[in-house]
Amino acid sequence: MTAKNDAGPDSTSGAGSPEIPNDEGANTRSGYVAIVGRPNVGKSTLLNALVGEKISIVSPKPHTTRHRILGILNRDGHQAVFVDTPGHAARTQRAMHRLMARAIHQAVEDCDLILFVVDARGMTDEDEKLAEMLRPRFDRTLLVLNKVDTVKPRSRLLPMLERLAKEYPFAAFVPISATRRDNLDGLLAELFSRLPPGPPLFPPEMKTDRDLAFRSAEIIREKLMHVLHQEVPYGLGVEIEHIAKTEDERWLVHALIWLERESHKPIVIGKGGEVLKQVGREARLELCDLLGGRVHLEMWVKVREHWSDSERELKRLGFDV
Ligand code: GDP
Ligand code: MG
Repeated sequence: MTAKNDAGPDSTSGAGSPEIPNDEGANTRSGYVAIVGRPNVGKSTLLNALVGEKISIVSPKPHTTRHRILGILNRDGHQAVFVDTPGHAARTQRAMHRLMARAIHQAVEDCDLILFVVDARGMTDEDEKLAEMLRPRFDRTLLVLNKVDTVKPRSRLLPMLERLAKEYPFAAFVPISATRRDNLDGLLAELFSRLPPGPPLFPPEMKTDRDLAFRSAEIIREKLMHVLHQEVPYGLGVEIEHIAKTEDERWLVHALIWLERESHKPIVIGKGGEVLKQVGREARLELCDLLGGRVHLEMWVKVREHWSDSERELKRLGFDV
């Protein structure tokens, strides 16, 4: 199901693989697609579902995504380069939040298309603010209503789509469920048909611009957030100090877990180290998938006050400073 305003070329929608119009037969399309939206609407889940690999980490907590991360999708010679962005960062003067806000604005400025993701259950004030920010770019913004699996009955979607289409002249309105992969083909059809003609921007075998060290650190951070749940200390950071393959085909991964306060250490380590052990178990499973092979993971917990307010420290942790 795809509602659409009359901007942009015709395209197929619904099930099946998208037919992508080429300008002159062999010509291909390519471009940058920014994924924006308030925290927790499912931007990173969508990126991973589209690229078919875990590129960006996901959690029910806001501000899980801290970085601008590229995920690359190739289809029939066309290429979409998705840019996952942090949720709209709180307006504080902290260096980390400044950089997160900058990452969003840069992604929106530099891209060919925008996927503006909202929760299909309804728009919030924060969504409306973002929509206003995108107003000058409505013609190249697709409104993606995610989590339609939570809307019951489904028929409730139609009046909402109609109301949104009246209020905002977005190029298209696409209901999806990122976790269930509902209507992702419909979304891709809308998207590829609007990309400008051009050759691929990255080699076809490349799925992300981030290296294995960065992706390993992010997996560990995701597992820390999962295991610590409500107790994730503010200013938790993970740095890979060493990653290498040994002669017997094992991966050695040494990670430093950075905290801002000494008092956070017992939370992250747990009684008898049990919290850290569980993080290690969960992270190792996924690291084996990512790295392909057996993984020996060692983690150390360290304290460095105010690291998230230091641009130099942020750079070491993979932020684009
Ligand atoms: P982000 O902050 O926008 O990147 O959101 P995430 O991708 O981290 O997802 C936030 C939460 O929403 C996670 O718990 C996801 O599992 C969940 N989520 C994402 N997409 C869907 C969806 O289509 N349906 C449902 N029910 N949950 C979803
Ligand atoms: Mg995210």
